[in-house]
Amino acid sequence: MRDGESSTRAGDDVGQQVRDRKLEDYLEREALGRRMDQIKHKILILSGKGGVGKSTVAASLAISLALSGHRVGLLDVDIHGPSVPKLLNIEGRRISVRDETIIPIEFDKNLRVMSIGLLLQRDDDAVIWRGPMKMGAIKQFLKDVEWGELDYLIIDSPPGTGDEPLSVCQLIEKADGAVIVTTPQDIAVTDVRKAITFCWRLSLRVLGVVENMSGFVCPKCGEVTHIFKRGGGEKLAFEMGVPFLGRIPIDPQVVEASDSGKLYLHFLSQSETARAFAEVIRPVLAMVEPARHDEKT
Ligand code: ADP
Repeated sequence: MRDGESSTRAGDDVGQQVRDRKLEDYLEREALGRRMDQIKHKILILSGKGGVGKSTVAASLAISLALSGHRVGLLDVDIHGPSVPKLLNIEGRRISVRDETIIPIEFDKNLRVMSIGLLLQRDDDAVIWRGPMKMGAIKQFLKDVEWGELDYLIIDSPPGTGDEPLSVCQLIEKADGAVIVTTPQDIAVTDVRKAITFCWRLSLRVLGVVENMSGFVCPKCGEVTHIFKRGGGEKLAFEMGVPFLGRIPIDPQVVEASDSGKLYLHFLSQSETARAFAEVIRPVLAMVEPARHDEKT
């Protein structure tokens, strides 16, 4: 074969590969779109950085919604620190796969849960994945989980404003918006500014900011101490013109419940903090389903 011919054939092969890749991408997006169309409302939970309680807020909002009678899915795609399995004590549960789809765990009659952590064999698995592998895993995971019909899907996204949350936000088309979690101190609030700008760039509605770990309520005397300052999240939300959803106090019972996988039970106990979470979700519901909310009020 002459040089010219072999390079033309190599070019054709590359062209075919590019076309195949595009078709595969298109089919994956279609499949994801079909699954997402069965879900009425999709809410992303974001944070400017890790450790502010994003997963706790995501799980708590999902539990709160489920307990108030909505059909809810909780999806944990925080590839670096998937904490939902621990919070709900589903670590080690086997994933069931049917017809190449992943069946979420029926945690309660109104709550289905799936975490990327259940796919990882060891805690450090995700860390050693290279960038494209992580993106591929996130995409495939979003596409393959068969939720069925839901009122709400709460998505615990990876923290920050890098490539991973970007992929998640871009893949979940027609999301109702994002709830951004922060703690009250200045350094966390600076990251929230970035998270809000990130949403704006993606034309993703900011449903509001939650100030977590806002004040410590003494279990003995009930006095509130503002260990990390107070009001940073609220001030920033006001400055940037986005809703402020409320404050959640630091609650030793939440730490205990999270560490022992009893977050759900904690909610059933109707603690002050559980009530604070329920209050946070109220304005979100009013935003995403105003007609229904008006009927009730
Ligand atoms: P992130 O998802 O932002 O990394 P997590 O939700 O995993 O954060 O929370 C980090 C730690 O903080 C966990 O141990 C969790 O139990 C604790 N935590 C979160 N919110 C609260 C709260 N309101 N009161 C007490 N502890 C909390």
